Amino acid sequence: MIPPWKSLLARSITTPEQLSRHFGQDFSALAPVIEQFPMRINPYYLGLIKTPGDPLWRQAVPDPRELDDHVCLVDPLDEENRSPVENLVHTYPDRALFLVTNQCAMYCRFCTRKRKVGTPRMLVSRETMREAFAYLRKNKQIRDVLISGGDPLLLSDETLGWLLDNLRAIPSVQIIRIGSRVPCTLPMRITTRLAAILKRYHPLYLNTHFNHPDEITPVAAKACARLAGAGIPLGNQTVLLKGVNDNAATIGRLMHELLMIRVKPYYLFQADMTLGVNHFRTKVETGLEIMQSLIGHTSGLAVPTFAIDAPGGGGKIPLTPSYLTSLGKTVSLTNYLGAPCSYHNDLD
Ligand SMILES: *Cc1c(COP(=O)(O)O)cnc(C)c1O
Ligand code: SF4
Repeated sequence: MIPPWKSLLARSITTPEQLSRHFGQDFSALAPVIEQFPMRINPYYLGLIKTPGDPLWRQAVPDPRELDDHVCLVDPLDEENRSPVENLVHTYPDRALFLVTNQCAMYCRFCTRKRKVGTPRMLVSRETMREAFAYLRKNKQIRDVLISGGDPLLLSDETLGWLLDNLRAIPSVQIIRIGSRVPCTLPMRITTRLAAILKRYHPLYLNTHFNHPDEITPVAAKACARLAGAGIPLGNQTVLLKGVNDNAATIGRLMHELLMIRVKPYYLFQADMTLGVNHFRTKVETGLEIMQSLIGHTSGLAVPTFAIDAPGGGGKIPLTPSYLTSLGKTVSLTNYLGAPCSYHNDLD
């Protein structure tokens, strides 16, 4: 029997004709964009779009500017050169990023792996996964494996169980993390059966990816409740995107609403310099101002780490507005309201 989430996914919009029919406008000009970077908008996410040009539309619907980017890089994080075996990116000594599918419930227009998600340019098979298991078994310093893709939760329950069994059989792998946008883009995928499978592999963490408060729906809330109910700590990464969420009010509301569905904000990312994504990039100052609007003004729990994933594969670099005015025998500080404070540092 085909699970309901799969039949929903099968009814996704993937062509300019379907898009034109749905919105009653002519989108045939998007054909070349879709040829280069696939489109998939499933009926659930499509239903959340209120009007062309709104923040959810921008994340899902192709834009001609994707083909007019002369600034950014095909593989901004240098992942291909940092993969000792196919689909396993090993940048930090003690953790690895393991890509387990090329499929997603939606192809986000700003995706860092735009070069290959949803295309034959990214191939994953049980054979490539077995090579990754062997690498992880051999490299015992890797204690944290981040499963990503594509979206790992688009794998069938059976394949996911097989994958997690294999990872858990490697004694040096202490932490398993799943990175999945499914709680946001196709929350009905989070079935009771899936939650029951995942809870067999603790400590297992799940980081999801919400970018706008309009994505936090009752169905998404139910999906997160089900995961949290299975004892899975939930985190979230958000990407700062021009015209989607690049202001303090939107990000503030998003962080609060995430906490209400038991998801802890983890990272706020500066958009990567990915070819085809240039029109989404904001200035770094915007992110710092947003951070300043959060820090001290709301629950520390609601404050993510703002970071740039360094082009070239330098890793994630945190950026914090500076509260330090001078560092010596006295530390001079500024608090969240801009008031001067000091701390005696004269301890030698
Ligand atoms: C993001 C990432 C990780 C995990 O980084 P954390 O800061 O521990 O969340 C690991 N490997 C790669 C290649 C990554 O891009
Ligand atoms: S779900 Fe994640 S991997 Fe898939 S297209 Fe969106 S950002 Fe990229």
